[in-house]
Amino acid sequence: FRGALSNPRLAGQSMTALSMQGITKAFGGVRAVDGVSFDLAAGELLAMIGPNGAGKSTCFNLLNGQLKPDSGSVRLLGQDLVGLPPRRIWRLGVGRTFQITATFASMTVRENVQMALLSHHRRLGALWPRAASLYVEEAMALLQQVDMADQADRACAVLAYGDLKRVELAVALANRPRLLLMDEPTAGMAPKERIALMALTARIVRAENIAVLFTEHDMDVVFGHADRIMVLNRGRQIAAGSPAAVRADPQVRAVYLGSGQASGVH
Ligand code: ADP
Ligand code: MG
Repeated sequence: FRGALSNPRLAGQSMTALSMQGITKAFGGVRAVDGVSFDLAAGELLAMIGPNGAGKSTCFNLLNGQLKPDSGSVRLLGQDLVGLPPRRIWRLGVGRTFQITATFASMTVRENVQMALLSHHRRLGALWPRAASLYVEEAMALLQQVDMADQADRACAVLAYGDLKRVELAVALANRPRLLLMDEPTAGMAPKERIALMALTARIVRAENIAVLFTEHDMDVVFGHADRIMVLNRGRQIAAGSPAAVRADPQVRAVYLGSGQASGVH
C-alpha cells in the first residue's frame, strides 16, 4: 500500500492529492480566507476564481507555506503541511509557476532545466562545467514534453514570451510535483497563446497524474480547461462544481459573471 501511494501510476486517477479542510486566515479584522474546504484528485485541474480580494492568493500562500492558517488542515497525499517551511513543502511535491517568469536569462533553455534537476536531485553544489554534463537526457525529455526541445540551445533571454512560459513549466516539472500551483499562468499572453499553453499543461498533468490548482482571468481558459471550478467571494466558497454547474449557478452569476460578461473576474 505504501508503494502504491508513492507511485502515482499504481495509485490511479482517483487518489486524493490535496485536501484542504476548514481553512481560515485573517489579517487583522479581514477574513481573507474563511472556512474553505476542498479536495483535489491526482490528475485533476481545479480553477479557483473570484473577484479581486476574494482570497485566491492567500489560499495559494497557505498551500505553499508562505502563510500559516489560523485553523484548518492542509494535506498532501495524506501528509500534514501546516507549519512546514516553504522549502520543505516544495520538496514534498508542491510546485508552482510564477506570474513573472523565473528563468535565468543568460543560460540556455536546457541549462535552466538542468539547474532545476540539479536542485531536485540535491546536486546544486556541483560546479560548471561538471554540472553542465549532468541530467542532459532528463532535461531534454522534459523539453520534449513542453515542445521546446528544438530550442534547447537558445538563451532564455531571446525567447518569445510564450516559449519562456513553456520552459518555466518544464522547470516546475523537473521537481516531479504532485501538486502544481499556477497563479495566472497565462498572464500577459495573447488569447490564442493562452489556450495553447493551458491545453499543453492539461495534457501533461493528466498524463503525469499531477493535481493542478490555478487562478486565471481568462474565462475561456477557465471554462475550457478546468475539470472543476471553485468560486470564492470575500474569503468564502460560494460555489464549486463542474464548469457547466458553475456557469449556471445563480449566485455566481450575481457576484460577477453578470450578463455573461467575464470582466472584473480575477
Ligand atoms: P485575491 O488573490 O483573490 O485577489 P487576496 O488573497 O490577495 O485576494 O486577498 C484577500 C483579502 O486579504 C483582501 O481583502 C486583501 O486585502 C487581504 N490581504 C491579503 N494579503 C494580506 C496581507 N499580507 N496583509 C493584510 N491583508 C491582506
Ligand atoms: Mg491575487
